[in-house]
Amino acid sequence: MPSAVRAAIQIVNTTTHGVLSNAEWEEFRGMTSHIEDIKASGKSRWSDFVLMSMGILHYSSAKEKFTLEEDVQQIFARVSDMRGQCQSFLVLFADQIFQILSNSLTLIASTFDPLGLVLDPFVACANHSCDPNAFIVMDNQHLSMRSLKAIAKDEEIFISYIDTTYPFSRRQTELKERFFFDCKCTKCVQGSTLNEDRWTGDPRRMPKNWKRYCQVIRDTDPKFAKDVQEEEDLDEINDSDKAMSIIQDWAFHSLKTIHDKEFAPAKIAVNVERIMDVLAQTERCPVYRQPYPSARHELVQSYSHKANFFLAWSHGAKTYFYVDPLLYPQTHHPLRVVHNANLAMLTLVVSTDLSWREHPETKEIDFGVLVYYLFLEVVANIEKSHGKDNSFAKLLKRKFDQLTTDMTRADRNAVMKLERRRDGTWRQFRKFADDVYP
Ligand SMILES: [Zn+2]
Repeated sequence: MPSAVRAAIQIVNTTTHGVLSNAEWEEFRGMTSHIEDIKASGKSRWSDFVLMSMGILHYSSAKEKFTLEEDVQQIFARVSDMRGQCQSFLVLFADQIFQILSNSLTLIASTFDPLGLVLDPFVACANHSCDPNAFIVMDNQHLSMRSLKAIAKDEEIFISYIDTTYPFSRRQTELKERFFFDCKCTKCVQGSTLNEDRWTGDPRRMPKNWKRYCQVIRDTDPKFAKDVQEEEDLDEINDSDKAMSIIQDWAFHSLKTIHDKEFAPAKIAVNVERIMDVLAQTERCPVYRQPYPSARHELVQSYSHKANFFLAWSHGAKTYFYVDPLLYPQTHHPLRVVHNANLAMLTLVVSTDLSWREHPETKEIDFGVLVYYLFLEVVANIEKSHGKDNSFAKLLKRKFDQLTTDMTRADRNAVMKLERRRDGTWRQFRKFADDVYP
């Protein structure tokens, strides 16, 4: 059953069995029901909705207490969107479990697969902004809202319901389809003028063979190409920005296919590399423009799964210098901190294997210095991003303390020595990240 249906059954059952207190139930009933929006969204969607509501009533223990129209449909309309997906829930992704697992910090962290759902009517009250001033962090069963920016007294607190790094039109569409509103946040009022929507380079100087990429798209993914063909005759496209939009749509679509079909890690890497290769060859898609960063993240995960830590580390380095600072300007942005923690761990693994350290491109890098400063950066930001008592924060601080002890035990001037070698190491590390392709 779809997770929104299962979630609604859970709510019905906990209510009938008295697990949910009256106050909690009232709080839940205070949430916006989008039943009229769902009704207005088309006949087939509405009949799907009614069918799923009947399923909820049938499989829950509330047949005597609840009616279909009066209760169950209202409950379902609060938790689901018109596609029958979860709306008022926070979907916990595997990436967040990386923060939750406190006993072992695993390198094979996430594939961004949905892991579970959390419903908190209080948090569900927070409005959305594509440039939010707060962020949700999970730690076991605790949920906290942490600030991304300084928030003045009485200023509204915004969180984000979607990935804020996506281009303007994708954000608008997703918010409209899933949450029924037109976003007019401070970022959206600027339309498609920001970094998320900018192609780099001169459109006239795009490589001549960009048409070939559109051709590749048409040949390799007939389903997607069919959609494109309906709107555009590819041979007629002589506008390079339009060609880039087609390539971007194809890349988004291909990444989604990899997710939906649950490819094996080896197959994921090959497919993601191909997507990134096409984006790179256009010479117009900056590495920080979506879905390039998502693709690279996917690659880091699948290389880690395959225990190819050197390649995972290489792409993590690219993200560290050229992607995250642009997508997440705050150094304490929780996603940036989690990515950096993952990079620090990967660096530690790579540093213990001589064959990687002797790699021609990494020979000049002082891995001891690199590991130390990467962990230091994480530890310097993690209280702000995750909170002092967060188990992930505690774990990383312990790891750093242990590392410092190991590195400085025999030598009183060790920290000074590390400091002297810091700038040179960083130059080499950045140079290495420059050359990572695609
Ligand atoms: Zn917005």
